[in-house]
Amino acid sequence: MAKDNRRLFELFETSPVLVAAYDEFDRLRYANEAFRSAYFIAPDETPLWPDLMRRNFHAQRGTVIRVGDFEEWLRSTQSRRGKVGFRAFETDLFDGRWLWMTETVEKDGWMLCVATDVTGLKAKTRAVRQDRDMAIKASYTDELTGVANRRFVTARIEDMLQQQGSDQTSQGCLCVLDIDRFKSINDQFGHQTGDIILRDFAMRIHSLVRRTDCFGRVGGEEFVLTLPATPVEQARLILERMLALVRKSRPLQERPDFGYTFSAGIAGAQAGDTAISLYARADRALYMAKLAGRDRIHLDDSDPDRSAIAG
Ligand code: GH3
Ligand code: MG
Ligand code: MG
Repeated sequence: MAKDNRRLFELFETSPVLVAAYDEFDRLRYANEAFRSAYFIAPDETPLWPDLMRRNFHAQRGTVIRVGDFEEWLRSTQSRRGKVGFRAFETDLFDGRWLWMTETVEKDGWMLCVATDVTGLKAKTRAVRQDRDMAIKASYTDELTGVANRRFVTARIEDMLQQQGSDQTSQGCLCVLDIDRFKSINDQFGHQTGDIILRDFAMRIHSLVRRTDCFGRVGGEEFVLTLPATPVEQARLILERMLALVRKSRPLQERPDFGYTFSAGIAGAQAGDTAISLYARADRALYMAKLAGRDRIHLDDSDPDRSAIAG
């Protein structure tokens, strides 16, 4: 078996097919020669995916990214990257090659990437396929903030509940996040400033979202975070970090002392939950957090895990 594995790796090294594996933190853990040369990675390097994309973007090599604002592209791409079991798409490189890239994600967050050169294949209809991919991306993205939208995040809630059903050991949490007194922010500074704060909020929360989790905007100033295979107590720690980060934010240049906060409700998935029942519990917990004074987290009371935490 060990010998077979070695042979397999030797085959990978000589194959023109690009092969790579990323761990749950999106750090590159393996890449064959074809992958390394396409993306300019030294043999001993194990960069994080965002760092790899960023440095190639600035050096104008690797993946062609047709946007002015790289960080915005990154945020919107990360909002969907590695959150479904399998996806495939066409992508092009600065060297002129077109690749058919596939991403297979394990439940623990590890991702296998395999890409083949399709430069010569069906080139005439490529523009149509690119347009279709752009339309799909747009249909999953919130236009204002660039993070996932309600449609995408709702599907991830369904995924989380399905995994829950097939494996008793995995627990997941749903969090509803809502900016505090946002109406008065709008009233005081105007709608455009309100939009700046929504974008600031999305950017800050996104910076703390793990690749296996999904963060999206579901309404005006209401956002949802799915945390598959995560106990409630861990979800609370993640949300506490988010509260602290947002509290420190000073998003308005012309008003350097202006800060804002948010509140969150957390509910752990239970047997028999539907997206609607789980969402209702998280939403009720949010309401309790608001009642208790805002700028805080409330855990759903009906969660059986809760008594264990309290005791
Ligand atoms: P609470 O602390 O209880 O959440 O109070 P709140 O004022 O945040 O809550 P409420 O739901 O009363 O107000 C939400 C406001 O969000 C009302 C609406 O004008 C504003 N809003 C909704 N969508 C947008 C948007 O896209 N941009 C801006 N700037 N404001 C929005
Ligand atoms: Mg609000
Ligand atoms: Mg609200």
